[in-house]
Amino acid sequence: MLNSESIGFRNSYSVHPYNKSLKALNKHKNYRPIQRSNEISFNGNINFILINKGVQAVGKNQELKHISNVLKTLGVKELEIGDNLDLAKLLKSAMLQVKKSRFDVPTRIKCESAFFEENKAVQANLRKMMSKQGTMGVGEWSIPGVVKWNGLNEPVLYFNTKNNWNLGNGVLSKNQDSRHAIFHETGHWLHMMKYKNNPQMFKYLENIELDSYQKGIVNDTIGTYASENPVPETIAEIFARLMSKESYSNLHPEIFNIYTKYNGPMPKKI
Ligand SMILES: [Zn+2]
Repeated sequence: MLNSESIGFRNSYSVHPYNKSLKALNKHKNYRPIQRSNEISFNGNINFILINKGVQAVGKNQELKHISNVLKTLGVKELEIGDNLDLAKLLKSAMLQVKKSRFDVPTRIKCESAFFEENKAVQANLRKMMSKQGTMGVGEWSIPGVVKWNGLNEPVLYFNTKNNWNLGNGVLSKNQDSRHAIFHETGHWLHMMKYKNNPQMFKYLENIELDSYQKGIVNDTIGTYASENPVPETIAEIFARLMSKESYSNLHPEIFNIYTKYNGPMPKKI
């Protein structure tokens, strides 16, 4: 569930973070940089800037609407698309990948920031834990996503519209895919759905940790977040890795043993 180069490392960048984020932005296929030079070179006429911004806003809303439609077609029943176009684009791309890989798509998704702001205490705790694990600074960062499940209704995926989705990849995970957090939460959802008739059993998994042999292998190939947290986090991280652009042909066989042992989500048979 954790991001990102934006997390806590602002003072230790070897290049200016803005340059770095531009580089990351340009990696996205559909990204078109805003033409800042237009605004500046137009002799200071404020109308031009206002009109230009207006056009951009209409374009953005249309794009968000289009993405909502695609997600609904893929199987999302309750959707709050939010106002972060970077997140929406990644969500669309991630869910297309999930569907293509023959998994169900989560049915309830909310892109917002209120949930994350209300849970500042959770963030503070996580931050403390991460810095204790030695991989995360204590600077400013945000949780990109969370799954909430009361064991009765279908779990809800929350994604943080105030997270910096341009910078995407995880410092706690050896995965460079910007969609990592979206895949991770989807992995939780699919894992939970396997226990929808027995939520107690899933709760039980939340108390199990890997043994030290497994931790070593998982840490080496998947990442610290996967190795140092209870089994559901390991499964979500492995799932995210399997969905991502990274190759998994060189993963240690023990990764697959762990994944099957704890009932990791498998693609639907044709
Ligand atoms: Zn998680």
